[in-house]
Amino acid sequence: MNDERLNISYIINILGENEPQGIHPVTPPLYQTSNFYFSSVEQFRTAISNEKENCVYSRGNNPTLSLLCLKLAALEGADEALVFGSGMAAISSAILSNLSTGDHVICVQNPYSWTNTLLNTNILPRFGVSVSMVDGRSTEAILGTVRSETRVIYLESPNSWTFELQDLKAISEFARAHKIITIIDNSYSTPLYQQPISLGIDLVVHTASKYLGGHSDVVAGVCCGSKELIAKIFANEFLTLGGILSPFNAWLILRGLRTLPVRMEHVSRVTQQILAYLKTQSKVTRIYYPDMPENEQYELSKSQMKKSSGLFTIELDAGTEAIEAFCNNLTYWRMAVSWGGFESLVIPSCTFVRPGLYSALTPNLLRFSVGLEDADTLIQDIDQNMKFL
Ligand SMILES: *Cc1c(COP(=O)(O)O)cnc(C)c1O
Repeated sequence: MNDERLNISYIINILGENEPQGIHPVTPPLYQTSNFYFSSVEQFRTAISNEKENCVYSRGNNPTLSLLCLKLAALEGADEALVFGSGMAAISSAILSNLSTGDHVICVQNPYSWTNTLLNTNILPRFGVSVSMVDGRSTEAILGTVRSETRVIYLESPNSWTFELQDLKAISEFARAHKIITIIDNSYSTPLYQQPISLGIDLVVHTASKYLGGHSDVVAGVCCGSKELIAKIFANEFLTLGGILSPFNAWLILRGLRTLPVRMEHVSRVTQQILAYLKTQSKVTRIYYPDMPENEQYELSKSQMKKSSGLFTIELDAGTEAIEAFCNNLTYWRMAVSWGGFESLVIPSCTFVRPGLYSALTPNLLRFSVGLEDADTLIQDIDQNMKFL
């Protein structure tokens, strides 16, 4: 990207939106159709021979979805993108597309929980794929785990509770030389704050349910990559497993994308203000956030991420009862899973970390997702409830 600012606005607001009918709606039409008809056998035959480039049936291609794919691929600097009915549909399709029985996967420790389930519990073990979970902060540890059967290195930089980073350039260079596919979950940064393709990563997956949609009204996912890798996913997992997005939900994400730059700018700025407050609080014993000089991976974050977003975790010097009282009394920080929407959210780790149940996390953590409220409102809400800790 040469003039980055211009290009982001161009991609979000103009790219692909020239309607040929002579009218010029400022929002794109919604093609809420399952099916497309043809007026000659010849046209029908041509279309059916290439479902990726032609509209035949909406499990394959649909103009509302292809407009969204065009914009997301352009934002990531990828050749192409495919959108899915959830982040997990995108992640599982990207992973499955590059594996067969006997293959080996390297995955970073503490990935998104359902990615862990896919790799280690319910799905891949049934098909004879082996998985090594490695501390991704150490490039040597990742490279040292590679075997001759390794086909995929799966990254999440940063992950969504403890925000550990991986050196994307070093890992992708090694992987390319060894013909290993690299996949990254880039949901935390969005394409605005981190562009893994430009650092040599092969496939970039996102949940679009978080920042890309941004309004907590859609579950969706996206996978971006080269023409070849995307064509392979389209022909196999996409059409066959059928985890597609509805045209209306694609349209909602197109709408959400219009405000992505201002939303990201807001949550990133307000997060820094909230962190400055939290650093003055003695009950807060640790803050997990990439863009913070105290973070041991700060230099790496500065070298490969433009900024950090609005998701962070704090560790508290407080027991579970005190943490429950703190959370129960918050007003603007609503308790819920997920993140990346207009509303500010908090999730205490004690909702799922229980004695006897293995977790890499301790029960005294709170993860916050900063929404679109102003900093004073959100800080005041925390400050008024500090007395419970
Ligand atoms: C939510 C989430 C996912 C899964 O996305 P869905 O759209 O809920 O399927 C994947 N990765 C990360 C980091 C997430 O937070």
